[in-house]
Amino acid sequence: MSDSKNGLLGLGSHGPAVLDVRTRLAALASDALPELADLLVGAPDPEAYDEGLLHAVRAFQQHKGLIVDGVVGVETFGAIDGARWSLGDRLLTHTPGHLQRGEDVVALQERLNTLGFASGRVDGRFGPETERAVRSFQRAYGLPGDGSVGPETFRAFDDLRRSVSGGSANVLRERERVRRSGHNLSGRTVVLDPGHGGDNTGATANGLVESDLVMDLARRIEGRLTAIGVAVVFTRTEHTCPTEEERAAIANNAGADLLLSLHADSHDAADASGVATFFFGRDRATSWSAIGEHLADLVLREIVARTGLANCRSHGRSWTLLQQTTMPTVRIEAGYLSHPADAARLADPAFRDTLAEALLVSLQRLYLGDDDTTKTGVLHLGDLRAYLAAHS
Ligand SMILES: [Zn+2]
Repeated sequence: MSDSKNGLLGLGSHGPAVLDVRTRLAALASDALPELADLLVGAPDPEAYDEGLLHAVRAFQQHKGLIVDGVVGVETFGAIDGARWSLGDRLLTHTPGHLQRGEDVVALQERLNTLGFASGRVDGRFGPETERAVRSFQRAYGLPGDGSVGPETFRAFDDLRRSVSGGSANVLRERERVRRSGHNLSGRTVVLDPGHGGDNTGATANGLVESDLVMDLARRIEGRLTAIGVAVVFTRTEHTCPTEEERAAIANNAGADLLLSLHADSHDAADASGVATFFFGRDRATSWSAIGEHLADLVLREIVARTGLANCRSHGRSWTLLQQTTMPTVRIEAGYLSHPADAARLADPAFRDTLAEALLVSLQRLYLGDDDTTKTGVLHLGDLRAYLAAHS
């Protein structure tokens, strides 16, 4: 792109515009581009476009992948101006004909790509592709899908970055105390317990590995929960396989509100299929978690309604994890890897997203109650109401 005449600055130029460029580059030098500092300090006349500034501009152009001509025109000035923005400094939105550009847009595009929302080439320009990716991200995380990146979306990004696993129970408890409120999920702590892990793969069939599958599902749930202010604790990493006692202890120490234990089943009988849920229940009179049962039923209903997986019902059990946790705990066996149709569906990331949505809505319903009309403004409440209307 050619530089416009009245915006053109180069060796020999003089005046306040040169000082402005020098000042902006010096600010970058102290921050993102420290190698420029030597070239900018000690100029006898800061309004003069001297050799030092020329070298600084060329170094900057090199760094940004611009044409290295040492001339500050529209392109270069736009890049210098954009370089001062960090993600979160300003509202980002698609403005046709005058695309926003800057380091914050670069950071946004990289973040979206990392999270699996293709924003196209990372070019630091907020164009239509970036806007589409933002909308997808917003929809996936339960935010209004307006395609603009404002405070709510920044917060979702932040929460995703802060999302922690294991270990940080004290931090999580503090956050929880501050944020706990009312009838919604925001401010609560949910433990996600992907079954198996490390060398213990769990079931394997039809090319699927249970431990990997449920970790992937847990990550999808995590993203959605953290985006609405829920603190998420994992009981394991990709490489560990705690005992059931250890998993219960992690959840208890975190002071969690709920635990979701994620598994997929397998059976020698190839026609075994469907979803089942389990809660703590040994004897209705003495050892029975009523909330656990309620949540297990909600989860089952949501998954069956949204996926059409066969309904294998919810069941009371006195398994270690169910028994030793102090919060409502539900174990979900989400389909049979040994069943070709179940396996084919579980292999599809979009299907795992549907499962994650179903779990999220069932948690929200646990706290809302079916007849609660509190307008919380979180989490697909419109969806939830429409769903309730259609299924009640
Ligand atoms: Zn399992």
